[in-house]
Amino acid sequence: MTFSDWGGRLVTFPAGRARHYRESGMWSADPTGRRLHQIATRFPDRTAVISAEGSTSFAALDRRTDQIAAGLVRLGLERLDPVIFQLTNRLETVLAWYGCLKAGLVPVATLAAHRMHEIGHVSRKVGAVGHIVEARTAGFDLVEFAREHAAGHPSIRHIISVGDEAGKTQPGVTRLEDIGRETDPAAARAVVEQIEAQIDPLDVVAFQLSGGTTGVPKVIPRIHAEYWNNALLYARRLGWDEHSRVAHLIPIIHNAGISCGLHAAHSVGACLVLATADAPTAFELMARTEATEVLIGHGHYQAVLTPDFDKARASLRRVVLSGAKVPPELFERVDDGAGHWAGQLFGMSEGLFTVTPLDSSTHARLTTVGTPIAPDDEIRILEPGTENELPDGDVGELCCRGPYTIPGYFDAPVHNQDAFTSDGFYRTGDLAAITVIDGTRYLSIEGRIKDLINRGGEKINAEELELLLLEHPRIADAAVVAMPDPRLGEKTCAYLVATDGEPLSMNAIQDHLAQLGVAKFKWPERLEWVPSLPHTNVNKIDKKRLRTEIAAKLLAEADARGAVV
Ligand code: AMP
Repeated sequence: MTFSDWGGRLVTFPAGRARHYRESGMWSADPTGRRLHQIATRFPDRTAVISAEGSTSFAALDRRTDQIAAGLVRLGLERLDPVIFQLTNRLETVLAWYGCLKAGLVPVATLAAHRMHEIGHVSRKVGAVGHIVEARTAGFDLVEFAREHAAGHPSIRHIISVGDEAGKTQPGVTRLEDIGRETDPAAARAVVEQIEAQIDPLDVVAFQLSGGTTGVPKVIPRIHAEYWNNALLYARRLGWDEHSRVAHLIPIIHNAGISCGLHAAHSVGACLVLATADAPTAFELMARTEATEVLIGHGHYQAVLTPDFDKARASLRRVVLSGAKVPPELFERVDDGAGHWAGQLFGMSEGLFTVTPLDSSTHARLTTVGTPIAPDDEIRILEPGTENELPDGDVGELCCRGPYTIPGYFDAPVHNQDAFTSDGFYRTGDLAAITVIDGTRYLSIEGRIKDLINRGGEKINAEELELLLLEHPRIADAAVVAMPDPRLGEKTCAYLVATDGEPLSMNAIQDHLAQLGVAKFKWPERLEWVPSLPHTNVNKIDKKRLRTEIAAKLLAEADARGAVV
């Protein structure tokens, strides 16, 4: 085994903690692809995935992803080569993911919605060698995009398409469907085992992206020792087994998708019901497949209150709500105290998950985000900007350390100095408090310090967007803030100062951001042109005031329309 620290760009866990996690069983010595193989050997005939495209058993999934891994190796991809993923929730995405893991490649979990600004930066940061894209996304040609991105790129050598029709092979693009297709399954298994013998548990298994607190998204390196176990801990906390059917609606490649959906279901031999973000379609699929579990992000809170949800509800046993405060009417809709259980998740791609224990009281389930899922997780509530721990009940910055929480972002030494305390606790940027209920210390989320917009679960970094807006020659000053939105929770509002006092149209702003290659979900959905931005007495832009102002303005506008916000 040859552990790679990527030329010192990977922060490793301190030796003492690493030893402890190995001894306590929190860390595994097995590579992640082998964990899937072990489950597939145990439950070969059970269904592993059902999606709109079809379904697969564990045995078939294991066999096909062995072939894909062998095929990727034959194409010339090598262990630890990073591969950018731009795929939506479909069956082949699961094949691509496990195929890469079994080949020792490192998926880079970007979104199908990302564009040149995001992909260009991240692919260079990690030295991406491959780019896997969906062939038929509506309104945007990702294959063409991958070609443009690869032109002149320092390291991209392979473009792989998913879902392209047979016979329509495009030059320079390999179809996932063709990879390893002819390889004898036993020979493919031998190739995978050979690769797995070289994987060190400390090797990176996947790169996730952080919403971040400053500038462009930071890269989160997750390692083999902990990543599958993070998901297994989540599945165990919720009492899943091989009879569970786990529905997932939000991006499956995002950390929540992997750790609460794909890996979590498969870690116990459960079936993943891979749905998409369109709620009525997802609820149909859930009803048809009799899904027993689902994670509902705040972008779907409203959809759960509609009659569409009724059919899906019948087979559901547990609903996990996540992403924003849970209103009582939503909780009551999914939790009737008679076979339908609701709880909450607080989680982040950097690691820490807190989830409601199954035996919690209704009060604890409604008002808190539960407790950490690993016995070795450590959480502290610190006075913001300091390392002073606050007493239970006080609101402060949530800081955490544990077996599956990263000890540092990838290749970000300066940022890491501020993002971690002197004893290695990750500063989440979230405001939280500990409440003791029935003798248990529960966590509740009370806001955030970090400057981002949480748009239905997708994070938009305010500083990143402000800098992009300021690249426009006619914008002199910019402040981006969250505004309340009934469907998505939050949307982006940009307060702008024009150089010549003349406001620009929304179209002009959109053209500007499109030219810079910025993903659409980051574009501001409202512009407020002002003569100058308000400042606090320490001369920082007074965003609190702007947030309050836009929220009040939206309310007044809704009042005037007679609408309910
Ligand atoms: P991500 O890494 O994209 O999964 O985002 C993690 C962030 O989402 C956290 O640091 C929080 O800011 C936010 N978040 C996640 N779960 C919750 C929750 N239950 N309540 C409020 N915010 C949440």
